[in-house]
Parts: sequence; structure tokens; C-alpha cells
Amino acid sequence: MISTLRDSLRQDAGIAEFASESIVIIDLEGSIRYWNPAAERLFGWPGLAVGGAPVADISAAPEDEVRAWSQLLQEGVWEGQIRRLTRDGEVRVVEARRRLRHDEAGIPCDVVEYAHLAQGANGEEIPDRSAPDVAMAASWEIDLTSAAEILDRIRSQSRTSGGDDRGDLCRRLLEAARIVDVNERTARLVGGNRGRELMKGQSVASFWPVASRAILAELIVQAFLDSEGKRFHRWLASDGILREPLVTIWRAGADRPGHLFITVNGTADDDRSYLFLRASEARYRKLVHYMPVALWQVDASHMGKIYADLRSRGVTDFGKYLDDHPELVGLAASSVPVTDVNRSAIELMGGKDAQDLIGPAGYLFTESPECLRRVMIGRFSGDRNYSELMKLRTLDGRVLDVRFSVTYPEPLVELDTTIFSLEDMTERLQMETQLRQIQADFSHAARIATLGELTSSIAHEVNQPLAAIMTNAETSLRWLARAEPDIGKVRQLTARIAASARRADNIVQRIRSMAIKQSPDPVTLELNEVVRESLLFVQNEIEQRGIRVTTTYSRDLPTVVGDRIQLQQVIVNLIINAVHAVEGLDETEREILVVTGVEGGSATFTLKDNGPGIAPEHLGRIFDGFFTTKPQGMGIGLAICQSIVTAHGGAVSASNRTGGGAQFRVTLPRARSLT
Ligand code: ADP
Repeated sequence: MISTLRDSLRQDAGIAEFASESIVIIDLEGSIRYWNPAAERLFGWPGLAVGGAPVADISAAPEDEVRAWSQLLQEGVWEGQIRRLTRDGEVRVVEARRRLRHDEAGIPCDVVEYAHLAQGANGEEIPDRSAPDVAMAASWEIDLTSAAEILDRIRSQSRTSGGDDRGDLCRRLLEAARIVDVNERTARLVGGNRGRELMKGQSVASFWPVASRAILAELIVQAFLDSEGKRFHRWLASDGILREPLVTIWRAGADRPGHLFITVNGTADDDRSYLFLRASEARYRKLVHYMPVALWQVDASHMGKIYADLRSRGVTDFGKYLDDHPELVGLAASSVPVTDVNRSAIELMGGKDAQDLIGPAGYLFTESPECLRRVMIGRFSGDRNYSELMKLRTLDGRVLDVRFSVTYPEPLVELDTTIFSLEDMTERLQMETQLRQIQADFSHAARIATLGELTSSIAHEVNQPLAAIMTNAETSLRWLARAEPDIGKVRQLTARIAASARRADNIVQRIRSMAIKQSPDPVTLELNEVVRESLLFVQNEIEQRGIRVTTTYSRDLPTVVGDRIQLQQVIVNLIINAVHAVEGLDETEREILVVTGVEGGSATFTLKDNGPGIAPEHLGRIFDGFFTTKPQGMGIGLAICQSIVTAHGGAVSASNRTGGGAQFRVTLPRARSLT
């Protein structure tokens, strides 16, 4: 930055060397930085002698100089006469123009002064124009035509000694008064960062400082009722920006009926505050420029007008309207221009510079035209903002997953500046997918481990139908071996064989589905059914140990949405833990209760055992991964139960029963209807 500034100064100087007008560059501290040969001729000082010296040192009227300087800092430009001492001690009156320059970031950096001898064609003295005058004033032209009725009411009231609603009328008067034009100084004093053009046509009440609105309204009434075009003055209280401001107001000439002029004269308490203001604007711009989020500024004013028109024609269901008029989406894509973008936006789009991204905003929506439609519906409905995940095609052809957000303009406040922000989510989404995959792999591994634990049960379960098949096949062979085979008997036995084979096949399928790796498949489920299926897996474990299992199924259970296998995994895990818990008891005492129910609209599954319960100091840790109190335990069962249940939008909790033993409860939200 500094080197480019220095370069440009050198370039400036190169050009200024040959200028016939005196050109001087002064820094913001008032010291002379450059003094061209024409300045040497005009004032007699060689550049080497004055370089670095305060310009005030060679002024013949230092007070004027101070005034001119402060005006320059406020206005950005200054024009007038200056009296400067020559090397011979004479006073030289010159006509000068000064301009405040800003660096690339918009921060004021120095002042360029152009000057030539102030003499008329015949050598007569030119009147001194450097005294502060209206140029120091903030001026307004306002239009009261829409306030005629309010003014009439105020007028009739003033005849009848005033009324209670005077304050209200004055407020409405300022609201009805429209700004025709203001000067730059007014725009800077009260216009925020919006500039002069944006103030035109707006209500005076939106800009005039609150503290002096009543005074202004009174002055407007006075000036308006005065037929001679007199000037009315009032001093206002210093307001932190202007010291002792004086408001002057008068009626415009006959060529502008209903118009008034207002000026506010006052000295800024701290001239440098303007510099700070500009610097802070520049910092703000810089901040936006370097913000890590990609930002687009678009001007959707044109569409705003179309929406207002549609609304006034009674359109309320804008989605339907767009279905019937899809060309409106195309119009938005091709007619809403991008007016500015920041650095991150250029990077995200893979562009060279901002210019690549300026133009109709449609390029943002080539991959997701539906998104643009929803953005338009949001604006039409008067939302403050809208956001969604969408696909974005960059200028260099990549397709990214981005979070697109739009902040709509607030009526009248920021006019029609709409801001789009885009955040690249591609990596995050990839990571989330990976994480989900790891979780799925992990719970699959745990399922395999559980099945491993259940091998003897599985073998036993499959053996039962196999044994039946064997017995029935042998019997039927015997019937066939008779001299007169009993075909009826054989048919009966063959049917039993087929039924047993089907049962064996069912068991194998059930176990296979637990064992194979598949991505979660959410479907609508009856929790009771899932519990019944889960009990089949552990039936043999339970029977072998002589455990009494009591099941209570609620009949009013809401359906839930979930992956059947994963939910079975949860229930099987909890039951296996309960089986382990009661193992230490006498065979006659081992008891497990399985209950389904409804709680606050959710379906619940509760498992109670009469084992030793959970040590209070362990209660907070049993769902942690790898927490176990069992010598052969892995400590992942409950952690996986929790991650599965949480992924289903539910919750799992553990507690101790009052009469001894542990209780686990799983809650799963009711399935929402999909419409
Ligand atoms: P593991 O069974 O391999 O230890 P889990 O995550 O399934 O892993 O269980 C963690 C711990 O929670 C167990 O070691 C045990 O201390 C406790 N726990 C789980 N279920 C019960 C239960 N029904 N009764 C008492 N303690 C239990």
C-alpha cells in the first residue's frame, strides 16, 4: 500500500513538474510534502527550503488558513484566496483550489493545492472569497405540497389559541415534508453512509435530528405562513457534531410553490471527526471486503416494484403466481444486477476480479433455479431473510455445496440493497457424510460382536426347525417304505417339513439382516413389533438361564420412524445387559420386565431387571464409550444405543429401581405425517 502511494506521488510529481500552475501537496498535519517549480516561481521559495515545513509558517493570514483548512477537511474541497508570504517578505494573494485525496482504502491521505495569482484582467483586486459563508452550511430544499392539509389545521389552530394535538400535527408535518435536495454536507451530517441521492424524495422526519424536530416544525409553519419570503432564524443546542447551529428557513420563490429552503450554519466541534467518519467508512468497507464470508450486493429495486404492483393487484399466493408465470423467475435472474462483491466472493466463484461477478445475478442459480424461486417468494412475503443449502456452479466449472443466505432490504431504511451471502459447505458436508459412515460402520461392528455373543442361541434356534425337518423326513420315509404307503400321512409330514424349512429360513434371514452392512433405511414402524422381533434373538439366552420375562405391550402406541435393524440392535443390547445383570441371582428369582407405553406423544420402551442395579457413581458414565464394569466387557453397547436413539430424534436414560435393579428407558418421537 505504502509503496503504491509513494509510486503515485512520484508519478504525480512527474506531471506537476511541467505545470504552469503552482501545485503543492500538503500532508494531513499541514506540512508541505511537494512544491512544484511553478510554486517556486509564484512564491519565491525553492522546494528544498519549504519541503517538510508547516504551510502555516509561510501564511500571511494564519487564522484564515486555519479556517480554510478545517473547511477543507469537512468538505473534501476548498476554493478561495490565500495570502502567502514570499521569500522577500511580501504578501502574495493567490486564488487556490484544494482537494483532499484518499488512498485506495478510502482513507484521507493528503491535500493537493493548485494556485495562481489572484488578479483581474486589469490588475484590480479581486474580492476576498475565502471567508466562511453558506458553503459552511448544511442546506435543504423541502417540498410541503403533501403537507397542505396539516398546515391548514395548524394555521386554524393558531387562530384559536392552539390545541392539544399540536405536537402530533408537527410530527406529521415533518413526515409529510419531502426532501427535494440537500447539499453534500447535509448528506454527511445526517445521511449516514447513504449519500445524497438516497435522501431525495424521502421524508424530512427520517433524517432531521430528533432533538430539534419541534423547533424545525415551528419554523416551517412560520415560514410557510409568511407571505413576504422573510428569513426565520433559531439557534439550536449544540448537538455533539455542530457547535451552536443556527437554522435559517425561508420560502422559495414563486417558481417553486410549496418549497422551503433550510440552512444550518455551525462549526463542527472537531473537524477531524469528519476524517474519522470517513476513515471508519473506509474501515467498514475494508472489513466487508476482507470478510471470510462471500458477500454479494444486488439491486433488486426493479423486482421490488413488480412485487408491490402484484400485491396491489391482489396477488397473495405468490408461489401459485410463479407457477403460472415462470418467466418472472427468468426475469429476476436476468434483470437483478450484482452491484458489488467482496474478496471471498471472487475466490469462491474462482473469478479474477470483481468485474467477473458484476452483472445479472442469475449465474448464482444455474444449478439451483428452485432456490431463486424461493428467494423471490421470501421477498414477496416480506421476510427479513432466507437461507438454504444449494448447489453453486463456479466460473471455472466446479459445483459446490453452499449455504445461501439472503438479507432482504428493510423498507426505506437501506432502500433496495439486498445482500446475498454464500458459505462453502462442500468440505463440511463431506466430513458429515464420512462421520455418518464411521458411525454406521461402528454400530455394524457392534452388531457383529453381539451376534458373536449370541452364537449358541442362534445355533440352538436354527437347530430346532432342522431337528423337526429331520424327524419328519425320517418318519415320512418310513411311511413310504410300507407295502402300501400312506400318501395322506406323507403329505401331512411334507407340509410340516416345508413349514420348518420356512421357519429356519426366517431365522437365517433375520440374523443375516443383522449381520450385513447396509445404510440406515428409515421407515414407519410399530414399536411393539420391533420389540417382539428383538426378543426372538435372545429367547434362547433367556430360556437357558430360566429368566422370567414379562412383557406388557401398550395398544395405543404411536408409530415411529426409524431403521428396523438399528432399533432392534438397541433393544437386543439392553436385554443382553439385563440378562447379564440377573445372572448372579438364584435361578428362581431372575426377572426381566419389558413394557411399551406412551409419554407426551412419544413411544417408549422400558426395560427393568432385578439385578444389582447401577452404582450411583457410574450412572453418569455408563453411556460413555468403553465404560465397562465387566471383566470381558467392551463398554460400547450403551454408547451405540445412545447414538442410534439420538439419531432417531429420541433419548435413552438409565436409573435404579426403588426395589433394586436397573431400569432403561428409550423414548422415540411419534412419526410425523409427511404432508
Ligand atoms: P458392556 O456390557 O460391554 O460393559 P455396555 O455399554 O453395554 O458395555 O454397558 C456399560 C456398563 O453399564 C456395564 O459394564 C454395566 O456396568 C452397566 N450396565 C449396563 N446395563 C446394566 C444393567 N441392566 N444393570 C446394571 N448395570 C448395567
